[in-house]
Amino acid sequence: MGRAFVYVILGGGVSAGYAALEFVRRGVSHGELCIISDEPVAPYERPALSKGFLLPEAAARLPSFHTCVGANEERLTPKWYKEHGVELVLGTGVKSADVKRKTLLTTTGETISYKILIVATGARALKLEEFGVNGSDAENVCYLRDIADANRLVNAIQSCPGGNAIVIGGGYVGMECAASLVINKINVTMVFPEAHCMARLFTPKIASYYEEYYKSRGINFVKGTVLSSFDFDSNGKVTDVNLRDGTKISVDMVVVGIGIRPNTGLFEGQLTLEKGGIKVNGTFQSSNSSVYAIGDVAAFPVKAFGEMRRLEHVDSARKSAKHAVSAIMEPDKTGEFDYIPFFYSRVFTLSWQFYGDNAGEVVYYGDLSASGSTFGAYWVNKGHIVGAFLEGGTREEYEAIAKTTRLRPAIEDLNELERQGLGFAVTF
Ligand code: FAD
Ligand code: NDP
Repeated sequence: MGRAFVYVILGGGVSAGYAALEFVRRGVSHGELCIISDEPVAPYERPALSKGFLLPEAAARLPSFHTCVGANEERLTPKWYKEHGVELVLGTGVKSADVKRKTLLTTTGETISYKILIVATGARALKLEEFGVNGSDAENVCYLRDIADANRLVNAIQSCPGGNAIVIGGGYVGMECAASLVINKINVTMVFPEAHCMARLFTPKIASYYEEYYKSRGINFVKGTVLSSFDFDSNGKVTDVNLRDGTKISVDMVVVGIGIRPNTGLFEGQLTLEKGGIKVNGTFQSSNSSVYAIGDVAAFPVKAFGEMRRLEHVDSARKSAKHAVSAIMEPDKTGEFDYIPFFYSRVFTLSWQFYGDNAGEVVYYGDLSASGSTFGAYWVNKGHIVGAFLEGGTREEYEAIAKTTRLRPAIEDLNELERQGLGFAVTF
């Protein structure tokens, strides 16, 4: 049994949805394009899962957040794929790939062949077991990567009104879920190994602003330690969390956000890997010319930094998808991807954006002591602005820091930059 397509997108997440839109815009013919996904639903905006999906009232549910609404584009429902002749093979995993033969073998036993393959397999959440702790299967231990996880998390929240949650990990999932749990009136303790939250991006000073705000909303922090084991009741539910520093904390539910690993397994030994992902060039082509990779799984050259990066954020998933499809459909008109990394988050009433690279010296501006205020920072490396962060900005102000980071202005006097603060970007 088998089918053949010109283009196959392996994975049905954010980048797959944006790639499909671009294929259709560029006139792909009916029956030429297929998306294979082990998720049971058409591509959706994954960021909604830790935000709108978890609200106690008027929560976001599909079909409202199918791609590509997140970038103010058309919303691609299953009907849209049908109308445009894009084959959606859902609820179907790919268990092996043969890039020489240009075939994929699905869990249903079907062989699907392609002329061009776009790998958009994203990433999987790291499990506690990978750190030597058992208990991920307990019904009140939640991860958050897909809709199934999000439904499980909502059930856990609803089954313990006013209860106690432990959030393991101080990264994006930890911070956004902690806020959502509090909005659902759950008491939250966050546990993570670093000295402060969001350690990969935030400086201690920026982290302290958010931690103080979280404390004002009742969130406790236990920092510098990790989970060592769970205690379970006779039904297999976690009742207590034991930390390596000897602390025992009683819980009704646990949320785990301890990072991800890109889904490269099908291609190990077949494609060149780098930074944990599939190595691609400036048009997202891998070491095999018929295979492209986009989104979280792709390690691509970031021109502005002169090095390869693998990013785990929705903006790069969307833009890498668009660029790869452009390169596939119109190779002569498509140059090298020229991208400035962009990350953001929204929690409670707070909202921040970051552009560029967090390397070099940091220059702060605004009031970092008062919650609800506008503040920010520039990163200056080798005499140029390479990164910018802003909390509580307006659309124009965010656009200004984005533009400034892209243009990398030379900075001679850090004190003068500090004095001008946000004004530097706005008037630049
Ligand atoms: P994904 O969206 O993960 O899609 C991968 C798809 O491939 C999935 O459908 C998966 O099931 C499928 N797949 C994998 N292997 C196989 C296989 N063998 N066979 C078939 N199908 C397969 N980023 C931001 O910038 N801002 C945010 O606010 C934000 N919030 C987030 C909130 C949550 C809860 C999560 C989990 C992520 C968030 N992100 C955010 C990150 C962002 O969602 C990802 O960067 C983005 O989804 C990456 O897109 P992708 O297409 O590469 O991978
Ligand atoms: P992150 O990489 O953001 O954070 C993981 C956190 O867990 C880090 O603080 C990490 O520390 C910590 N950690 C690692 N091991 C342990 C351990 N054994 N015990 C306790 N803490 C540990 O990953 P997340 O899981 O938070 O997010 C998953 C993915 O989803 C990421 O790709 C992220 O980009 C994406 N996402 C993005 C959002 C956004 O952009 N707004 C929102 C939600 C998710 P260390 O740094 O030392 O490894």
